[in-house]
Amino acid sequence: MKTSQILISTQKEAPNDAQIISHQLMIRAGLVSKLASGLYSYLPMGLRVLQKVEKIIREEMNKSGAQEVLMPVAQPAELWQESGRWDEYGAELLRFSDRHGREFCLGPTHEEVITHLAAQYLRSYKQLPMNFYQIQTKFRDEIRPRFGVMRSREFIMKDAYSFHLDANSMQAEFDKMHATYCAIFTRLGLDYRPVLADSGSIGGENSIEFHVLSESGEDAICFSDNSNYAANIEKVAFSKQACIDTPSAIEEKVPTKKKTSIEEVAQFLHIKEADCVKTLIVKTKNSFKALALRGDHELNEIKVQNLFGEFEFASDEEIKSLNLKKGFIGVKELTIDLIVDYSASVLCDFVCGANEWDYHLVGVNWNGIEFVEADLRNAVEGDASPDGKGKLVVRRGIEVGHIFQLGDKYTKAMNANVIGESGKAVTTLMGCYGIGVTRVIAAAIEQNYDDRGIIFPASIAPFQLVIVPINYNKSTRVKALADELYQQCLDAGIEVLLDDRKERAGIMFAESELLGVPHRLVLSDTHADNGNVEYKARNNPEKIEVRFDDALSFMQSKIR
Ligand code: ATP
Ligand code: MG
Repeated sequence: MKTSQILISTQKEAPNDAQIISHQLMIRAGLVSKLASGLYSYLPMGLRVLQKVEKIIREEMNKSGAQEVLMPVAQPAELWQESGRWDEYGAELLRFSDRHGREFCLGPTHEEVITHLAAQYLRSYKQLPMNFYQIQTKFRDEIRPRFGVMRSREFIMKDAYSFHLDANSMQAEFDKMHATYCAIFTRLGLDYRPVLADSGSIGGENSIEFHVLSESGEDAICFSDNSNYAANIEKVAFSKQACIDTPSAIEEKVPTKKKTSIEEVAQFLHIKEADCVKTLIVKTKNSFKALALRGDHELNEIKVQNLFGEFEFASDEEIKSLNLKKGFIGVKELTIDLIVDYSASVLCDFVCGANEWDYHLVGVNWNGIEFVEADLRNAVEGDASPDGKGKLVVRRGIEVGHIFQLGDKYTKAMNANVIGESGKAVTTLMGCYGIGVTRVIAAAIEQNYDDRGIIFPASIAPFQLVIVPINYNKSTRVKALADELYQQCLDAGIEVLLDDRKERAGIMFAESELLGVPHRLVLSDTHADNGNVEYKARNNPEKIEVRFDDALSFMQSKIR
């Protein structure tokens, strides 16, 4: 393609709302254009990248034996009522009515539609297992769309759904999808990790997320430094620990005027935060609960939710009404249930609030205090790995894929049965497998850029090669050579861009660098005098002179 024929819409400045590098670079390189909050158009260059990502995903899904379908974006409310999610899903589900007053939603995911199809078309156990996938637009009315296409409201997902006769078959497909996702993310050139995950609103027990490692990731993921253990921080489960220390201190009340945070108290008393216990008050459906954690640990809200269902933090007013003093709440003489995290319940001689304004207790021990123990906290760097091997390392990750074993959650509610071998109806079991296709592009950029712009992995670059002729429109010799080389590359099937514009060389270089085109050939009269072209790879500052006659085979050896 010639540059004069494709919209190049690079910008010097990134918009103010672009906080992370991929968002800045996608706008600056003119890959996408913002229409409204969380809504983006793909411009021609961006669409080329998107289609490359889709092609890789499609090839690997087809190879796995899955078959492609395409389902509507608009979905009737009745299906969601059948599955029970019409009420459960919350505000991310964009609901609307048609002209007849019938209720619909824009699909944030397609379990309901595919299960409805399965109930209609899968009749006999002989048809199973079967895996259906689509690459299609989703809509989620995210509370805070941000980071460009990383968390948008409309985005493209590859979603797949498999149906099975039994758990073994469901597990086998889950394993196959695990391997397929590894193949996809490897071909996409991403540094990724599969990690154990919480299943969230989709449901089911067993799930694995695929994370691209990046400082800008919204999730914290934990790995063992000495085994394959890897999990989303939300999912790292701790069990009861054995007490190592023995109580030796005598409890004492000490003044801690206006020191309400753990940090202030620890500093003031010259102790470690890990020797303090903090108490948080939450309101569950039926009651208030006090949750005690080690001072340096953070509450894991998902674990609390798994224990007590929906909950919220008690307001200042509610805390007051329980006769507790915010900032000085302790673990003694509470009138509500006390749940203590496993790593706080093994502390000895610790510090906690005295439940009296401006006082804390030091040398506290658990004997005589009534409580139950539970796993309440997030993992931290250095924690023992739950598999007993090594210590945890915490990194940030971008979730690009998620695979689940759903079991019969949808198939039971929506009567997706088949006639089993014995002639009786059997409820099918289901797996589901998602990839954030548009998010993958942003994630790839987060891992591959420099101060000049994007350095696309070759597999998803909009073009493989750019030919930059200097004075294309003035020198007939340069034009003739550039056209010849361009034609040779086209004939050889190389995705080549010929910069035929009347632009300064500096601008042409800067634009192809910003766009992340992996290879560049420069042609000028000086090069022509020597019978050479100049080659430069996007990810290497070195420039190499190549004989003009060898240029095609040289490029073919670079682009495979
Ligand atoms: P997140 O925790 O990031 O909101 P999720 O758990 O809601 O993701 P899934 O329902 O598992 O995501 O969707 C499958 C994939 O779709 C995710 O792994 C992610 O890559 C992508 N995805 C989800 N929400 C968005 C969004 N708002 N914008 C872009 N991609 C998204
Ligand atoms: Mg989400």
